Amino acid sequence: MPDTRLLRVAMPVPLRRLFDYLAPPDCTDDALQPGCRVRVPFGKGRTLVGMIVERPTRSDVPQASLKRALAAPDDSPLVPPPHLGFLLRASAYYQHPVGDALFQCLPGNVRRGNDTRPATETLFRLPANAPAPAGNPGRAPRQHLAMQLLAGAPNGLTSRALADNGISHSVLASLLEKGLVEKIGRLRASDTTVSPGIEPVALNPHQQSVASNMTATLGGFVVHALHGVTGSGKTEVYLAVMAAALERGLQALVLVPEIGLTPQFIDRVRRRIGPELAVVHSGLGAKERAQSWMDARDGRVRVVLGTRSAVWTPLANPGVIVVDEEHDLSYKQQDGFRYSARDMAVVRARDHGIPVILGSATPSLETVRNVAAGRYTEQSLPQRAGTAPPPTVTFIDLRGAQLHGAISARLLDALRTNLEQGCQSLLFLNRRGYAPALHCHQCGTVLACPRCDMPYTWHKQARRLVCHHCSSERAAQSQCPACKDSELVQLGHGTERLEETLATLLPAARILRIDRDSTRARGAMGRMMARAHAGDADILVGTQMLAKGHHLPNLTLVGIVDADRGLYSADFRAAERMAQLFVQVSGRAGRGNLPGQVLIQTHHPEHPLLRSLVEQGYGPFARLALKEREDASLPPCSCMAVLRSEHYEQAPAVRFLELARTLLQKAGPQLQVFGPLPSALERRAGRFRMQLIVQASRRSQLAQILPPWLQQLEKEPLGNRVRWSIDVDPQDML
Ligand code: ADP
Ligand code: ZN
Repeated sequence: MPDTRLLRVAMPVPLRRLFDYLAPPDCTDDALQPGCRVRVPFGKGRTLVGMIVERPTRSDVPQASLKRALAAPDDSPLVPPPHLGFLLRASAYYQHPVGDALFQCLPGNVRRGNDTRPATETLFRLPANAPAPAGNPGRAPRQHLAMQLLAGAPNGLTSRALADNGISHSVLASLLEKGLVEKIGRLRASDTTVSPGIEPVALNPHQQSVASNMTATLGGFVVHALHGVTGSGKTEVYLAVMAAALERGLQALVLVPEIGLTPQFIDRVRRRIGPELAVVHSGLGAKERAQSWMDARDGRVRVVLGTRSAVWTPLANPGVIVVDEEHDLSYKQQDGFRYSARDMAVVRARDHGIPVILGSATPSLETVRNVAAGRYTEQSLPQRAGTAPPPTVTFIDLRGAQLHGAISARLLDALRTNLEQGCQSLLFLNRRGYAPALHCHQCGTVLACPRCDMPYTWHKQARRLVCHHCSSERAAQSQCPACKDSELVQLGHGTERLEETLATLLPAARILRIDRDSTRARGAMGRMMARAHAGDADILVGTQMLAKGHHLPNLTLVGIVDADRGLYSADFRAAERMAQLFVQVSGRAGRGNLPGQVLIQTHHPEHPLLRSLVEQGYGPFARLALKEREDASLPPCSCMAVLRSEHYEQAPAVRFLELARTLLQKAGPQLQVFGPLPSALERRAGRFRMQLIVQASRRSQLAQILPPWLQQLEKEPLGNRVRWSIDVDPQDML
């Protein structure tokens, strides 16, 4: 009897379908469960590894044409079936080719099946009921030090960590012999960095009530929108809820926007959780990533902390999910599988039946709307945790004002006064480089990137022209390429130029510029922030890298150099983004005991959105901005998807979208369709970029109409000529 067991398999290919195979020869049923990998013949003479997602009883492919799989290497599901279900739903939500999405969600080594056995390690700790180490080091100071270190690490320390603190093997050996220290073997935790443990701080009454509200919901699905002003102590609240989950033997998943920008946050979590924390980020090696994934899946680590892709980490006993700074754009992947980790965290929490906390001082309008509709529960922390009052905010009207470079006389005065008082200042300008454009004084020619048709940014220190859209560069020029005149004029101001201006205006000030250019070297960001913390800088100049996470008690003045850029932009989310950045940056002022002050330079002090933000705060601003979205039927008050197409010539890109539009109008006349339109950045890296915007009033309409439409598009020969993609809930419209 031939083996007629059927497998339905997701393959890592860009096709929106699954593939049926016959089971490989001599294979147990265990190895054929959904979530197990399978090697199959695919295409001409190729073999690929796919994942079993179903064991169907019949196939649409006739028995005789079904191919037989070659091997099934896993004897139990690599991806636990409930987690597999979640990944499949995510790929369907974003209309991304299922196998491609599935495999993008697995760490490379897990995907390839390389060495996924858990590693073990030896830990040293004080025996239970051990007497506290005596205060007097006596005759064996090293042994005494070892005992003190171990007393501070109830979960134990590795010999490596002890050696880092000067404790040799022989010291450990004699302690073991005396029975003062014991040795335990355990599975290696993913994060072995040693930091002294810290006691939880006593929560203030606001924190307490919010934390207990949330803790009370452990065990059920609730979305908590934690709206806490900057400095209100959200981190302590997360930690309290996580601790309650851990006490019940559950795990926590914590998402942060960018590991490198939130060192203090991670440090706090690390010191409270100890070695059972896995920090996952792109800087990890392939092996460590796979290890963390396995450790989380099998329950060997209790807390997983990572950037957006960490949302795909399987958990053995999920208890709570935390999304810090939920409004942050980095939660949305902008290429390949275009998912939002924040939104998937909510889907996941519902699957598991657990609470999820979406924390922010500046919630996204999506969250604000969900709160208003009663889908999310709002938890607020209206006050700062410390003693500092909120900063005062004042506009500086730039209309007709005399400027020193980009700086008004009033801002300069404030900087000078602050410097004299020995306090720190921060100037925010979200534009790196020296000047955002150069043009010729004789003929007006703008030096532009030939691949993007956008001006080059002049980087004076590096003496290079850099395209901020495609990253291409060229050496500095002294002549206009068109008329050969030698007078090139620098237009506008970037952080480099601002730093230079300040150095001339305030020669006594120690200035520290923090942007992607100045922090390129490994560890540079950390070193610079350490300087800032040590009081070794008077003025910080920087981009949005400075907006979040940092707590500098002596920083009392924040200047927003250019508030105008976000007010008039092609992207309908520009005002929301601007407000979020301003509030986050302003939140850096006056976090210690000294009051803070924020000065905003603008040519539009009467702009209604800007006014509501400054006079009434983020909440009223968000409601006003939401009303505007509603009037314009824009997300989150409607559901949007964008079909993009790119090509080196414009015509094929347009034709593909025209075809798509025709097909769509037949399939779903109730959808609104706009385009084909050029993107705001019409050409990037040599490709023309066109888009077709699809809008529906209900999500179910998109979910119904998009799949058959996209499957049809996949079969169109024109689709093979252009590079196309679908983006559901797009965040970046440029
Ligand atoms: P947020 O993330 O809301 O901006 P943080 O969690 O960074 O705020 O907390 C801001 C500061 O307040 C930190 O220095 C933190 O240690 C301190 N803090 C938080 N909660 C308390 C508390 N209950 N008592 C004293 N200080 C606190
Ligand atoms: Zn370019």
